[in-house]
Amino acid sequence: MATLTSWLDAGGDILDQGLSLYFPAPYSYTGEHTVELQGHGGPVILRALLDRLYQLGCKPAEPGEFTRRAVENGKMDLAQAEAVAACIDAATIRAGKQAQRQLQGAFGQHIELLMQQLTSLVAHVEASLDFPEEEIPALYFDQLAEKMQQQLIMPIRAMLDSAPLGERLFDGATVAIIGAPNVGKSSLLNALAGRERAIVSDIPGTTRDVLEVDFEIHGIPVRLADTAGLRISDDLIEQEGVRRAELTAAHADATLFIADASRPETWDCAIDADIFMMNKMDLAHSNIPERFIAASVADGVGVEEVKDALATTLGDIEIADESMMVTRERHRQNLLEALSCVEAGMHTLHSEEKLEITAMQWRHAWSALGGILGIGDVEHILDRVFSEFCIGK
Ligand code: GDP
Ligand code: ZN
Repeated sequence: MATLTSWLDAGGDILDQGLSLYFPAPYSYTGEHTVELQGHGGPVILRALLDRLYQLGCKPAEPGEFTRRAVENGKMDLAQAEAVAACIDAATIRAGKQAQRQLQGAFGQHIELLMQQLTSLVAHVEASLDFPEEEIPALYFDQLAEKMQQQLIMPIRAMLDSAPLGERLFDGATVAIIGAPNVGKSSLLNALAGRERAIVSDIPGTTRDVLEVDFEIHGIPVRLADTAGLRISDDLIEQEGVRRAELTAAHADATLFIADASRPETWDCAIDADIFMMNKMDLAHSNIPERFIAASVADGVGVEEVKDALATTLGDIEIADESMMVTRERHRQNLLEALSCVEAGMHTLHSEEKLEITAMQWRHAWSALGGILGIGDVEHILDRVFSEFCIGK
């Protein structure tokens, strides 16, 4: 409910007039009673309004405090809270959309489903522990193992497969362009970045330091480093450039080696590269080594192929359901832990005296999954065991 209201200073004079919006709990972002004031004044009036609010007992929010309260009040899970930050930090539309999916809770729902299925499987193990004197057919455990495989191990593995791409979508990637002087490194960088950034010249050795440009490939934020040409030089500055080029290549997530079709002496690469591009194909029609992507950057030929190859090297894969994508190191670590616990529990599943270990491992796995959403109550599982099962049977 929006109400037009006048706001007064300590002396009773009107400071500003604006909209007051009241959100009764739990229908606010934080889940608490919230009043939102929309003032119309400029910075000076706004400042005076804030001072008045502080006088009346308000305090400024800590970083992330609204979202933290939302989590504490059960309005969103931890993964959603992380998505709020990811939405703000997203450097590309693709990253933003992914964060939005996570914010809407899709990722959390996948984790919850895994937890529910795990709860049911743990419950089956717990139930057989409760009746040690009874003979449980081996088939029963075969079926449990099969379900575990289908419902947890396979989906978790698929999620983990998406992690390199998911994390890169937010953390970004670095790509180093290497190759002899004058092969067209700066030209490619300009073609990829879509603007004249690097200095293109036909004097070898023009790019003496490492020049970086930010852009995106298939929605992955990429920092591209155009390095000085790799060649032996007497020029000290150029030598330093070459040294930095080697360093940049060693630390990059992907390295792209460029050669000049008209100069076979540039085809040899001392540094191991991920992608090989043969530029200036317009100048020569000789046979080139198979691993090279044929290109002529000056005519825009081969640039798309290089982009696609880069995306693939950076982990871009077709993901059936993008809402399952793992975008955080924290989530990946928890999923890895869950997977290793689930698998450890599988080893002891068929030995009666070690069945307790299976139950323990699987409860750990449940906690690891719960940690992703900020849930960590193992007792919860035990409650479920007895609510789901008819012990009398
Ligand atoms: P770098 O030293 O490796 O960065 O090379 P540059 O990008 O500065 O390019 C060196 C020279 O090659 C420039 O004169 C470019 O215009 C030229 N060049 C770049 N790509 C091509 C191409 O595909 N064909 C031809 N013929 N010339 C090119
Ligand atoms: Zn250059």
